Amino acid sequence: MQDKINLCQIPKKATAKEAKEIKKLMLEHYAHAKTELKFRNLYELLIAVMLSAQCTDKRVNIVTPMLFECFPTLESLANANLDDVKALISSCSFFNNKAKNMVAMAQEVMTRFDGEIPLERDSLMSLSGVGQKTANVVLIEFCEANYIAVDTHVFRTTHRLGLSAATTPIKTEEELTRLFKDHLSTLHQAFVLFGRYICKAQKPLCGECFLQKYCKSKSNFKA
Ligand code: SF4
Repeated sequence: MQDKINLCQIPKKATAKEAKEIKKLMLEHYAHAKTELKFRNLYELLIAVMLSAQCTDKRVNIVTPMLFECFPTLESLANANLDDVKALISSCSFFNNKAKNMVAMAQEVMTRFDGEIPLERDSLMSLSGVGQKTANVVLIEFCEANYIAVDTHVFRTTHRLGLSAATTPIKTEEELTRLFKDHLSTLHQAFVLFGRYICKAQKPLCGECFLQKYCKSKSNFKA
């Protein structure tokens, strides 16, 4: 989905006090929030996150067990036949490009980083198919790095709450980083789960929402 917002629909901005209270409540409600992607090591995490772009975690978790059985290491993926990789991930959106990027990424890590996936954001982002959001998610999940990654859930929920009025995910990330400053990795997980299960895109569960008091958009979702 295109993460854009109609400027006419941008709600009022949350006050600094409201933002602080929302942060506190999110950290309380989602203190132990974790990604729903399944992985056992950094290689599997990076591949799962690359596959999850514009695809559900549920779908990725269906596809990855066989993919990792066939290509258990970065080296094996670097030497993979591209058509075999495409066949294994064909039920994911944009599988042709994702397969090309995954194999190219593995080859680049083998040649440029001596087979070790770098854990530094700029280096990660220099790899094929790894943009800022993917790099942030990997660092959040693997190192609990103080980053927030703005996917469709984070973008939608933070705008509905008036925490950002930015029109792109990258600008939203910058605004949220300035606003919250710390605990960003937990807040990232929290907003993803909040958006996935409560503040859903089509029919948000406003009646069950613990942030209703702060919401700038709930009048748009009358039952
Ligand atoms: S009240 Fe509704 S629209 Fe507002 S944040 Fe909660 S679930 Fe989302």
